Amino acid sequence: MPQRPLHPRSLAAQAMGKIDPQTKGVVTPIHIATTYIRDEDNAYSSGFIYGRPDNETIREAESVLAMLEEAKAGALLFSSGMAAATAVFQALSPGDHVVASKVMYWALRAWLQTEATRWGLVIDFVETDDLAALKAAVKPGVTKLIWAETPSNPLWTITDIAGVAEIARKAGAKLAVDSTCASPVHTRPLTLGADIVMHAATKVLNGHSDVVAGALCARQDDEFWNRIKTVRKGQGGILGPFEAFLLMRGLRTLHLRQERQSASAMALAQRLSAHPLVARVLYPGLPQHPGHDIAARQMEGGFGFMLSVQVTGGEAAAIKAAAHVELYKRATSLGGVESLIEHRASIEGAGSPCPTDLLRLSTGIEDVEDLYADLDQALKAGHS
Ligand SMILES: *Cc1c(COP(=O)(O)O)cnc(C)c1O
Repeated sequence: MPQRPLHPRSLAAQAMGKIDPQTKGVVTPIHIATTYIRDEDNAYSSGFIYGRPDNETIREAESVLAMLEEAKAGALLFSSGMAAATAVFQALSPGDHVVASKVMYWALRAWLQTEATRWGLVIDFVETDDLAALKAAVKPGVTKLIWAETPSNPLWTITDIAGVAEIARKAGAKLAVDSTCASPVHTRPLTLGADIVMHAATKVLNGHSDVVAGALCARQDDEFWNRIKTVRKGQGGILGPFEAFLLMRGLRTLHLRQERQSASAMALAQRLSAHPLVARVLYPGLPQHPGHDIAARQMEGGFGFMLSVQVTGGEAAAIKAAAHVELYKRATSLGGVESLIEHRASIEGAGSPCPTDLLRLSTGIEDVEDLYADLDQALKAGHS
């Protein structure tokens, strides 16, 4: 690779330019060994001992992620987004206070409300897009972690990462950001002052709906990051080498996919805003979105591939419209090359801030005219 600095898209396209030393292959082999030979002097000179703590294919994928997130302390891959997220909370101690976004990925909110409290964590949920409310909820010296998801599921609320980072720093707390729906193409939270960035790599990082994976990236190699490493090693939450290879293959096209997906999401958001059967479009790229100004500051090159629409005619019309899509796939998850639609309230259940007339749209790489035409006919069918 050239010595001059390269754009992340160049480094990602070549998975950091790594060449297989034995065959000179431009794609490195998948390392599947679970155990490694000890040297005659009893050392492990290769740096590898056993498959649960570490693996070369995992390390290669982690190096691409660390580059994308500008993570000075590196990245760690986990067996799922939830395994990555929960490792951050498990690195805390009983009695520690946590402040988390009220609007966030529903399964993590459910885990925090049930499992994490059994571990002795004390968790307050606030609107992290409201810095005054956040400041009031943070207890200096007691609050050890602020967890913010931005843009957050499924309303695409925007949290001001730099603003929250300052509140966290003053209180002596760490800031972790679930950046799954921004991706490093649009936002790099560590450069805005966050300590940890988390990804459900299952989503747009892999991008092909065929890998379940999670990632954490860290700004500083400190005691907290070491605690997280200990949690992964001890609990065995590492990703498998085949999945890491597939993830790396996906990362090579991340920029291309993300640019198309975000441009299409913006076009759909604008056109759906004028649709007579749509009451409201939730998308941070629209000037009327409450988080638009902050999003314009902390997201570059687009506002992401996720949007939601609230349909006229309420819950029944929303469910009926989803039932009539022909090109969109009626499925959960997000970030893949195929567009997905979901009636979120049916998934999230009681206690969710998700309106019942809301349909969540994950924008893929299909032709945007085809996507719009499909939504248009489905919305009409929903009202017939
Ligand atoms: C999917 C998702 C998760 C959880 O990731 P899994 O890989 O499904 O465990 C966490 N946060 C966000 C924003 C997600 O979309």
